[in-house]
Amino acid sequence: MGRRPRYTQGNWRPTLSKTDKPIGTRTRAVLAGRREEWTGRVVNPPIWRGSTHLYESEAERVECLKYNEDGRFHYGRRGSPTQWALAEALTELEPGADGTMLYPSGTAALAGAMMSVLEPGDVLLVQDNVYEPTRSIASGLLKRWGVEARFFDPSDHDAYAAAFDDRTAAVMLETPGSLTMEVPDIPRLAAIAQDKGASVLVDNTWATGVGFPALEHGCDITITALTKHAGGHSDVMMGAASAGRKYYARLRHTAQSLGQCVSPDDAALVSRGLRTMPLRLGQTTASALTIATWLQSRPEVAHVLCPMLEGSPGHEYWARDFTGGCGLFSFVLAGHTDTQRSAFVDTLELFGIGYSWGGFESLALPFDAARIRSASAWPKAGWREEDRLGIRLAIGLENAEDLIADLDRAFSAIKHR
Ligand SMILES: *Cc1c(COP(=O)(O)O)cnc(C)c1O
Repeated sequence: MGRRPRYTQGNWRPTLSKTDKPIGTRTRAVLAGRREEWTGRVVNPPIWRGSTHLYESEAERVECLKYNEDGRFHYGRRGSPTQWALAEALTELEPGADGTMLYPSGTAALAGAMMSVLEPGDVLLVQDNVYEPTRSIASGLLKRWGVEARFFDPSDHDAYAAAFDDRTAAVMLETPGSLTMEVPDIPRLAAIAQDKGASVLVDNTWATGVGFPALEHGCDITITALTKHAGGHSDVMMGAASAGRKYYARLRHTAQSLGQCVSPDDAALVSRGLRTMPLRLGQTTASALTIATWLQSRPEVAHVLCPMLEGSPGHEYWARDFTGGCGLFSFVLAGHTDTQRSAFVDTLELFGIGYSWGGFESLALPFDAARIRSASAWPKAGWREEDRLGIRLAIGLENAEDLIADLDRAFSAIKHR
C-alpha cells in the first residue's frame, strides 16, 4: 500500500466558534467546514464515495472499535470528510449547537428528531399549523409507536400551558406555521415547555439558523429541510437536526439505529449551496417584502401573510426574535372562486406550479389549510368562508419588478372569468 493521507482521528469541535474575532454570517458561510485536512489543496472537500474504510492494520481496526464519534473513519454509514464538512459547516451556522446530524430529507430529519426524544406512552404536543408531513408522522407513525399526539393552537398560551401533564415528553414547534405563515412566540412556548420538563423541537426551515437562532431562544433541537435554502437550487433532498451536547448524542444514537446517512454527492451539492445561502436569503427576503407590500395595495387581495410585513400575524415576534426572513409567504384573494384562483396560478409565467421552495426560481402553490387544522381556526376569526383558499408564493432570484408584472397580468386575466 502506498502512502495514504493522514487525518486527525476522533472528536473534533467546530473551530470558527472558538475565534474571538467577530465574523459576519456571510464570512462564516464561506469558511465553515473547510478544514485543510479534509480539503487538501483544493477549496472544497473531495467527494469521498465509499462504503468500506480501510484500516492500516488489524490493531488499528480493533482500536477504532472503541470509538463512535464524528470525524473518525469507520464505515460508509458514519460518513467521510464530504459529509463531516457539511455537518460541521451547519453546526458553525447554528448558534448554540454542538453537532448536526444529516438525513436523506427534511421529513426524515423531523421523524428522526421526534423519535430521539419520545418513548411509548409519551404525549407529544404538536403546534396545529405544522408542515403536513409532521402532522402525519405525529398522528400516524408515532401513534403506532405508542405516542399520543395532541395538537395545540400556538396563539393560545394558556390552553397550551394547561395541556401539559405527566406524560408530556416533548413539544413540536414550527416557525412560521406552514402555509398560513403565523409567527408564534417561540421563546414563550419553549420556556413553558422547559418549565414542565418537556423537550422542545422546532422546524426552523423557513429562516434557518442564520435568521433565527432557535437554540438560543429556548429550543433543544432545531430541524431544517436542507432541500430548501441550503440546497438552494431545487436539485437535492436533505435534512438536518442540530443540538447542544446532550440532545446531539440522542439524535446521533437514534439516527444510527435507523441507519440514516446521506450520499457524498448530495452532501457536496448542499455544501456548495450553503456558501451562497445567506446572500440568497438576503435577496429573496428583500424581494418578498417588496412583492408582499405591492400585493397589500391591490384591491384583488384580501390578506397578505408575510412575517416581514407589518400587520401580518406574529410580525411582532418576527421583529423581536429574527434577524432575517426568506422569500416564502402567502396571500388570500378577495372574493374569488376556486376556479379563478386556479386560473390566476395558471396564467403566471415566471412562477412554476410545484412543491418545495428555497430554490433560485419562483413558485406558486394554491392551498386550503382548513383540511390540516384541528385546534385553531382557519379561515381566521372575522374572515369570510372563501378566504380559506390561499396562494403561497416562493420568491426566487428573479427581478422583483418582473415578478410583480407577472402577478399584475394574472390579476387582469381573472377579472372577467
Ligand atoms: C419542505 C419542508 C420540510 C421537509 O423537507 P423535505 O426535504 O421535502 O422532506 C420540512 N419542513 C418544512 C417547513 C418544509 O417546508
